[in-house]
Amino acid sequence: MSNPGPITEPVVKGSMTSARNFLHTSPKKLLIGGRWVPARSGKTFETVNPATEEVLALVAEGDRADVDEAVKAARQAFEKGRWPKMGPHERARYLCKIADLIEEDADELAELETLDNGKPFSQSRTIDIPKAAETFRYYAGWCTKIYGETNPSDLSTFNYTLREAIGVCGQIIPWNFPLLMAAWKVAPALACGNTVILKPAEQTPLTALRLGELITGAGLPAGTVNIITGLGPGAGSSIAEHPDVDKIAFTGSTDVGKLILQASTGNLKRVSLELGGKSPNIIFGDADLKSAVPNAVRGVFYNSGQVCTARTRIFAERGIYESFVDKFVRESTEMTVGDPFDPGTKMGPLISRAQFERVVNYVEVGKQEGARMVTGGKLPGAGKGYFVAPTVFADVDNRMRIAREEIFGPVATVIPFKDEHDAVLQANDTIYGLAASVWTRDIGRAHRVARATKAGTVLINCHGGSDVISPLGGYKQSGFGRELGVHSLELYTQLKSVYCKL
Ligand code: NAP
Ligand code: MG
Repeated sequence: MSNPGPITEPVVKGSMTSARNFLHTSPKKLLIGGRWVPARSGKTFETVNPATEEVLALVAEGDRADVDEAVKAARQAFEKGRWPKMGPHERARYLCKIADLIEEDADELAELETLDNGKPFSQSRTIDIPKAAETFRYYAGWCTKIYGETNPSDLSTFNYTLREAIGVCGQIIPWNFPLLMAAWKVAPALACGNTVILKPAEQTPLTALRLGELITGAGLPAGTVNIITGLGPGAGSSIAEHPDVDKIAFTGSTDVGKLILQASTGNLKRVSLELGGKSPNIIFGDADLKSAVPNAVRGVFYNSGQVCTARTRIFAERGIYESFVDKFVRESTEMTVGDPFDPGTKMGPLISRAQFERVVNYVEVGKQEGARMVTGGKLPGAGKGYFVAPTVFADVDNRMRIAREEIFGPVATVIPFKDEHDAVLQANDTIYGLAASVWTRDIGRAHRVARATKAGTVLINCHGGSDVISPLGGYKQSGFGRELGVHSLELYTQLKSVYCKL
């Protein structure tokens, strides 16, 4: 979309002076080779506040020509620049500096995140932004711990391995946790000595651009991190296809993940994909429902259900099925939906009109398939904004579309099961395998189910967001490659084996 006309004054509440400053004064341009530049085409696109439908800013719409420039800058920075050759202690200091700057600007970043994405400010301020800073600090610690090995060769030879940076890394991220996704990608790539081209989602470019300013302010060499805002088929696919990008890391939908993989074949880029899910939450009759119920509610409705690991298929054992549904519905209706800047709000709007329509359509599909909608649907009397109430379908069959397809909205399906065998069978009956949860007081059963479920992450008797210390990634069509923890280092390095005649 180009030249969409004048920007309406966004509704900015409270003390948002610096967020307002950023919106009105900072150029929403591309960061290429250390300079902020407009798209070569001159095109821009709108980013919208999903709670009010107001345009927040016009943002440069980068495409192939801009990606070419960014790749040149990243290549130059990798081959000739200081970053890859810098000692690990110094590199660690830069990453710590970025973490400090994120924390100093936490209020502004959280305000921008909530304006652009619609998530409650109480969550962006206490979860997204602090975790982004924590991610930079965590990977700062790894800079000095990227080891090779010495191998037991015969005595006439000395063999060792070097773990080296891959080169120019393209990183394409979604809109559900915009700054945190940027941190999960950029921090480990930098820790390993790579250079980066980051493409944020078109719906949420603002905090990535602010991060670009902070990274520049921290003094990283020009071209080390380049940021190309733009659209998937233009900027995104140009990065995925580019013959001089060495590695691509993608988080988003399974359909686009497949396109990324195809686009990578030209130069055999290294690829890691973190894709969709339809994750099960298995609740046995002996579970502590006082804990299981509120956590099942959070597990599916957090971030308005726009979470790749959302536990959208809730399996409840037959003996407790009806009482579980009652308690779950009561607790769901207490998820206050509304103005994301109101401290009482637990759920904001969906990200966009398109996502709103997609979710509302799935609600209709669920009704037509014969599932029982106990609560939810469109918010009655809602004005502006893409709000959908927490929606619960009971008496769902695991073969229904609402139990098979990723909705990415606040729609829970509650499915009965007979016994442990049946629970595992149904839980695994999906093309996805990102996460699973199990609730039981029987510790043996908990670990049996953890082993039997085909998922990259399993939670036992708890719920919470991913911790940067532990790997995250998918089985089956939820993708491959593991991010976070030490495992991100494997994604952003390659091994060299060196033999020396003694
Ligand atoms: P998406 O299309 O997969 O978007 C993710 C990222 O990929 C965005 O930066 C997007 O750019 C970019 N992209 C889109 N098409 C591309 C292409 N052909 N080549 C390269 N990059 C491309 O996801 P979405 O449309 O935002 O959401 C659709 C569905 O994806 C959701 O309903 C949900 O099921 C799933 N999803 C999953 C996650 C997750 O964390 N696993 C996150 C978000 C969404 P644009 O922003 O310009 O499209
Ligand atoms: Mg937006």
